Amino acid sequence: MPSQPIFRFAPSPNGYLHLGHAYSALFTQRAAATVDGVTLLRIEDIDVTRCKPEFDTAIREDLEWLGYPFPEPVMRQSERFPVYEATAAKLRQAGLIYPCFCSRAEIAAQATERDPEGAPLYPGTCRHLAPAEVETRLAAGHPVQWRLNMQLAQEEIGDILVIRECPVTDCDVLFSEERPRPCEPGRWGDVVLVRKETPTSYHLSVVVDDAEQGVTHVTRGMDLHAATDIHVLLQALLGLPSPLYAHHGLITDGLDMKLSKSDGAQPLRALRESGWSSEQVWRRLGFAD
Ligand code: GLU
Repeated sequence: MPSQPIFRFAPSPNGYLHLGHAYSALFTQRAAATVDGVTLLRIEDIDVTRCKPEFDTAIREDLEWLGYPFPEPVMRQSERFPVYEATAAKLRQAGLIYPCFCSRAEIAAQATERDPEGAPLYPGTCRHLAPAEVETRLAAGHPVQWRLNMQLAQEEIGDILVIRECPVTDCDVLFSEERPRPCEPGRWGDVVLVRKETPTSYHLSVVVDDAEQGVTHVTRGMDLHAATDIHVLLQALLGLPSPLYAHHGLITDGLDMKLSKSDGAQPLRALRESGWSSEQVWRRLGFAD
């Protein structure tokens, strides 16, 4: 018997959920329903300074109010640091990540190109450090982040990878129209996989956790479209399965017509307190007539 499709909604508890999150959650839930799938909740709280337990609680309350059922247990990334550390250790042993001591300001000063998000592209400075120098800096306790050696990683894989992607409409994924596209992670350069302040990064933990939760379908905003290239490369390097991807529009652009800026920025709980029902939210976002 084929196993059930698994989707996930993965908010970061660094603030209250707003209409943009509601759109993503309802989009995911609706996409899952069309293929008889289940949607898991994952709290992406690796940034321990910005993420707060009260926002974590609020996320679950707001999703319940929205009529978004999610099964327990909820995965919480802050509880999984040892798993990310073990994965980073594997990449380190394979020589695929290297320590980088550069500060943001140094990178901004050295960079001549930009990454797909417009940030300065890391020019690979620390990739050329002599091993003895690396040892000295590590022993002296210099703040260190670990970067993927992108060229080596791509050589390791050899072939051009393919991202399994489906087009979307305002509210639906067109699962029958899968359109594979070539994976082009090189445009990101040597991305950070282990940050200075946490033993992981968004890219590393999202890949490890999608595999751990058995996620078969990833539905998320267009803002993460280009990052998918990094994720598919990491899946290949780590021998993990690659899900099907669908990236929906962001309510700040695609649905601009329907949402005024002030509504879009309002937390769901503020709307609730001002008398909105969850049905009104669905209607406003196009998920109910
Ligand atoms: N935690 C991310 C966010 O809140 C979403 C990550 C993902 O869906 O891959 O934007």
